[in-house]
Amino acid sequence: MLQIIKFPNEILRQRIEEFDFENCLLDPEKLEAELIETMFAYDGIGLAAPQVGINARVFVMGHHSNPEAAQAFFNPVVIAATDDVDDLEEGCLSFPGIFVNIKRPKKIKARWQNSQGEWQESEFDGYNCKCFLHEFDHLEGIVFQDRVSFLKWSMAIKKTNKTKYVRTK
Ligand SMILES: [Zn+2]
Repeated sequence: MLQIIKFPNEILRQRIEEFDFENCLLDPEKLEAELIETMFAYDGIGLAAPQVGINARVFVMGHHSNPEAAQAFFNPVVIAATDDVDDLEEGCLSFPGIFVNIKRPKKIKARWQNSQGEWQESEFDGYNCKCFLHEFDHLEGIVFQDRVSFLKWSMAIKKTNKTKYVRTK
């Protein structure tokens, strides 16, 4: 299991370079397995390599209810996105305890390489779409705090502190 890097570590602010399958220092299948293991260990549904301090353009997504379906997305590209947005709640393993609603496209079409380097293409909607875009942002050095207003973020922090207070009481 890998260690999660918390904000504001500067690796979370870097744009991560494309993963080179022809010339890779890291074994992509091993990397996929480690990221998935870590994501599940922390109860996440998505995890990007820079969040564990690894400079590789890849993230994983998956759900406890169907662990076999968890997979890695190397060199992801968003090809199309709807103008329609969903405003659903998001959390991030690099910001423990903070949850905030973020507007993102309802549906996207994306392509990526699997751990064998083969290109795949699919559409995503609902939480999968949201998760894909959240993790994609990590590879661009963008965090979810950047996607909301200062006021909205402050309210989310306040709610977090309140929750902590209630829990420790
Ligand atoms: Zn995140």
